[in-house]
Amino acid sequence: MIVTESRGVGGEASLLGTTPPPRADAALRWSRFVPATGAEGPGVRAAIWVQGCAVRCPGCFNPQMWAARGAHLDDPADLASRWIADARAAGAEGVTLLGGEPFDQAAALAVVAEAFRDAGLGVMAFSGYTLERLQVWAEERADIARLLAATDLLCDGPYLADLPDTRRPWIGSRNQSIRALTPRYAAEVDRIARDGGRDALEVRISADGVVAVNGWATDAALAELLDDLGLRADRAASLTKGTPR
Ligand code: SF4
Repeated sequence: MIVTESRGVGGEASLLGTTPPPRADAALRWSRFVPATGAEGPGVRAAIWVQGCAVRCPGCFNPQMWAARGAHLDDPADLASRWIADARAAGAEGVTLLGGEPFDQAAALAVVAEAFRDAGLGVMAFSGYTLERLQVWAEERADIARLLAATDLLCDGPYLADLPDTRRPWIGSRNQSIRALTPRYAAEVDRIARDGGRDALEVRISADGVVAVNGWATDAALAELLDDLGLRADRAASLTKGTPR
């Protein structure tokens, strides 16, 4: 299954994420969708932030996405057809699943991920659970097995704030790994293992003045940027490093 990987260091330095995720409803609880971003994985891709995370890493950048309530609740097949059309129109090459914890809603997200795959788009996912744990749980959980099987690129492991990663893109801490589960992004993962990479931050200002941020920056850099824009950091949407990010 694993083609190549950029492994974290220090192994699993935390007991975070050691219990299987709860079984979720068939509907998908989601918080945000962006049809094209250059800050959430290789190339230009759509991004889906799900709502709800049972891992709850201290220092998580998206605690507003921990609660498995609120946000939007929709049929995953309907969402997938709408999102794929939007992603294609925006020129995206793939989709990134983040949040929140994608594997806490594995059944609904598997429907979405498989639809993107069938449309020829790549699938990247972040998880606060390690791949090794997901693989063990997948032996008895068809929803987790399905989402893993539909994932080309996985960033896995809990976010540990005391192990910040400044060398590799996308992930937040050095214990986390970037793994190619299929050949689609294997060359990119090899390149990151060899050369590292840089994080990116995107700021979108809509016509009605709403400012949305995604990607990652240090707290200080983000505060400075938002200060320039006249915003407070706690009002910016969806910083994703450590979700993991
Ligand atoms: S970093 Fe990710 S896995 Fe950890 S609490 Fe935040 S959303 Fe959940």
